[in-house]
Amino acid sequence: MTTGAAERHAALCKEIAAHDYRYYVLDDPSVSDATYDALMRDVRALEATQLSLVSADSPTQRVSGAPREGLRKVVRAAKMYSLDNAYATADVAAFVTRCVDALADDAIAFCVEPKLDGASLEVTYDAGKLTLATTRGDGAVGEDVTNNVRTIRSLPLTIAYSGRLTLRGEVVLYRRDLATLNEARERDGLEPFANPRNAAAGSLRMLDAREVAKRPLRVMVYQLVEGPELHARHSESLAWLRTLGLPTHGLDVCVRAERIDDELARLDRTRGEYPFETDGAVVKVDAYALQDRLGFTSKYPRWAMAYKFAAERARTRVIDIVIQVGRTGALTPVAVLEPVLLAGTTVSRASLHNGDQIAELDVRVGDAVLVEKAGEVIPQVVAVDSSDSSARGEPFRMPTSCPACGGSVSAKLRDEEKPELGAEVALRCTSRRCPAKIKGALLHWSRRFAMDVGHLGESLVEQLVDTGTVTDAASLYDLTFDTIVKLDRMGEKSAQNLVEAIGASKARPFSRLLTGLGIPQIGQVAAKQMAERIRSLDALLAMGDENLRTELAAIHGFGEKMIDAAVAFMNDGETRALLTRLSDRHVSLPEAVVERIEGPLTGHRVCVTGTLSRKREAVHTAIRQAGGTVHESVKKDTTDLVAGESVGQAKFDQAKKYGVRVLSETDLDALIAGTSLLP
Ligand code: AMP
Repeated sequence: MTTGAAERHAALCKEIAAHDYRYYVLDDPSVSDATYDALMRDVRALEATQLSLVSADSPTQRVSGAPREGLRKVVRAAKMYSLDNAYATADVAAFVTRCVDALADDAIAFCVEPKLDGASLEVTYDAGKLTLATTRGDGAVGEDVTNNVRTIRSLPLTIAYSGRLTLRGEVVLYRRDLATLNEARERDGLEPFANPRNAAAGSLRMLDAREVAKRPLRVMVYQLVEGPELHARHSESLAWLRTLGLPTHGLDVCVRAERIDDELARLDRTRGEYPFETDGAVVKVDAYALQDRLGFTSKYPRWAMAYKFAAERARTRVIDIVIQVGRTGALTPVAVLEPVLLAGTTVSRASLHNGDQIAELDVRVGDAVLVEKAGEVIPQVVAVDSSDSSARGEPFRMPTSCPACGGSVSAKLRDEEKPELGAEVALRCTSRRCPAKIKGALLHWSRRFAMDVGHLGESLVEQLVDTGTVTDAASLYDLTFDTIVKLDRMGEKSAQNLVEAIGASKARPFSRLLTGLGIPQIGQVAAKQMAERIRSLDALLAMGDENLRTELAAIHGFGEKMIDAAVAFMNDGETRALLTRLSDRHVSLPEAVVERIEGPLTGHRVCVTGTLSRKREAVHTAIRQAGGTVHESVKKDTTDLVAGESVGQAKFDQAKKYGVRVLSETDLDALIAGTSLLP
């Protein structure tokens, strides 16, 4: 290898790390996407010609290969303690007095900083390289999540410090990133995360780092545990860590005891301005020597205290507790509330999650309750006001049969992807004829990203199912104008519109039908891949078990769970009958797969987003005809993002994250026509 290449590679890696820092930590990018892309391309090109340059700390190696079986346990040198909690400033004052008395010093400096609401993490750098990352676990023993944490771009893989450095921090999600992540999850038929904390904790412990890389996680370092004894104070260490390019919150202030209350109030006032959630503040004795003298109880450091902010709460009354049954049959209890204003919106319903939660809170109809916005997403009942039990009803019991159909329910563990839920049990209706499930399935079928049946809204679906006119997706295609026009509040024009919309949906490609079926584990993108492989509904119906398994296994990214779910789905007699009836009614067209064509876009993987001058489908076809591949969303290996009008910032952020080039529609046309000056 030439030394020149090695030097150039090192310089490029350093430059990319500096841009990552500006972008992910400072939120202040210093170069254009194109420049960043060009740097990444140069690194890849060098590594392609000289394999020895590919080291663990190259920016091309953030995501590692195959999923793991489980997480390795790691015994840590210094226990990770909890923090003692204060809910009133008087408790903080008592903590300060304890410190002053124990140290016989009334001029102690305290550091006040935000308490980040995410999942705790410990990270070790050895000889300048990120070598280990562990979860808190039980404090003494954590779990090795190094591969997952390496995908978090706000955390550098290398730092300019050659000794051993052990840090603690919090894995967080910015509020705006959670919103984007939840939108994507809902599109894929997955449950949205209730708050950034759950999303961070769940993501951190996933077994496939490639999946973690898709989650917009960030790290905020809040403590130096092991390192050079350069500094005598916690606040000085934080400042030093910042100079190493490590992400810290940068919001710590050092004050004397009498100023603590003001600082707590200031953090509480301003916390809505930060992009991340904070659920309180932490007050720490700043000088390490004093921390050492104070030491620890069995659970907490005696030199620190967490002060929990009062969440925005409102008091109201429970009018009723109802059970919602969704498309999958899951039974979710919901409190119907007297409408109340909370954090700027009127709240009249709040999720109670499950029977365990109701029992723990002992919420009953008629209770006066406190509601809170969890991570500012979904309102929740957090407590019953026991001083007002005048209208209190009987204890609430989860039903033993489905409230929508009277069918039996089964208890199953919740989504495995959410380990933070532990052994939480979900009740599901097992009946196939349950009207609530049928309604959910029909609404899913007709959604824009599935079969796109216009004019088929919630109230119409209610009527169609309740009157027994429609029993499943196939029977939708037997509806006639005469039947529809007889429905309540249905005019001739509306009936005609619906007939036409149902007819038009027959011409959707096979992939949309697969999406519309809501096969467990198979979201929109997987459905598209499956359709490109299998081509048509009739081909799918003609396939035997083994054959289907083999075909699915050949699809990039299809793991065992997905394959098992799809095969089990197809093995079901009723599913097959439904699919046969759909086929008899000529619902869906074979997936058009453009054969690989050599053209100006060969090797380009292009995602199109926003409003363009022509239909999205037309642009997709043009890309395929020019030899390119279409990506439905921006992925790690997408090369170009064609952005039309009104594209959300999140899309651009994602493009930047994966080093995807952003093009206008005109750029794309020029590339296709071969008149572009772009590479
Ligand atoms: P708790 O989980 O209530 O016992 O609180 C302790 C946890 O708070 C720690 O394990 C950290 O993960 C988290 N934490 C968040 N922000 C900070 C901070 N600024 N300083 C210390 N701990 C923090």
